Amino acid sequence: MQHILINRQEILKLYRPIKAQAHKGTQGHALVIGGSYGKIGSIILASKASLRSGCGLVTAFIPKCGYTSVQTSFPEAMVITDKMEEYISKIEFDITPNAIAIGMGMGQHEATQKAFWEFLKNNDKPLLIDADGINILSKNKELFDFVPEQAILTPHKKELQRLIGDWNSEEEKIERTAELTESKKWVIVIKGAPTQIISNKAIYTNSTGNQALATAGSGDTLSGIIVGLLAQGYKPEEAAILGVYIHGLTADIGSKSLGYHAFIASDSIENLGKAFL
Ligand code: AMP
Ligand code: MG
Repeated sequence: MQHILINRQEILKLYRPIKAQAHKGTQGHALVIGGSYGKIGSIILASKASLRSGCGLVTAFIPKCGYTSVQTSFPEAMVITDKMEEYISKIEFDITPNAIAIGMGMGQHEATQKAFWEFLKNNDKPLLIDADGINILSKNKELFDFVPEQAILTPHKKELQRLIGDWNSEEEKIERTAELTESKKWVIVIKGAPTQIISNKAIYTNSTGNQALATAGSGDTLSGIIVGLLAQGYKPEEAAILGVYIHGLTADIGSKSLGYHAFIASDSIENLGKAFL
């Protein structure tokens, strides 16, 4: 497998400026599915990050209890609510998003697990699976067959352990992840310091980011950035590479003024503008 360092030079090969003639309808529509009682913030972060990454529209699919907080804290988002108050029980929508991210703050209620299975069986959109989406998959490996080729999975260390089992060395971790990406044709983002992206083509190692990202909601923000790029038509591998690089850059830029202690995930979103510039 080829090893590639993701640096500015690699990124400039992928990055596409937004055209002067663009309008919100040509910039892509991201759908962000997740949240549960007490964890609606994950969807606010993810949906905000997607719009700040250039996509034209974002819809949040959440349980009912999150309706007011999403609409008031983030008026740019559209919201669809589940019929249940505290968790997702059935994923139904009448919109046609260009890309979907699922799992952030979603919880693993039995009804949510069923809704996730049904969703996987019917979905034909470019897909990112994070957090409880990965956890539900790990508990029900028969669901692997319903995760489409080119899906992006974004596990942190614990989520990866649940997905592929424990490892004895870094080499073994990469090897086993690569086996999975090869057989399933997924793109797996192993989040950490540094983050590595494994596709069936290569192993990419990111060069941006720092300990300022060791804070609640960092991963939700990353998922939002990547799905925002997917919705704009970046290929899954490109969206993962560009998203991880830009996310790291928000911390490199933001921590210069805030330091590592005070930086929080919202500061990633605040610094997306500078990172893209
Ligand atoms: P999550 O655990 O899902 O919130 O994801 C954490 C995010 O922050 C991932 O994108 C990690 O790569 C990133 N992150 C956390 N700690 C560090 C660190 N010490 N250095 C670089 N990136 C980090
Ligand atoms: Mg996470």
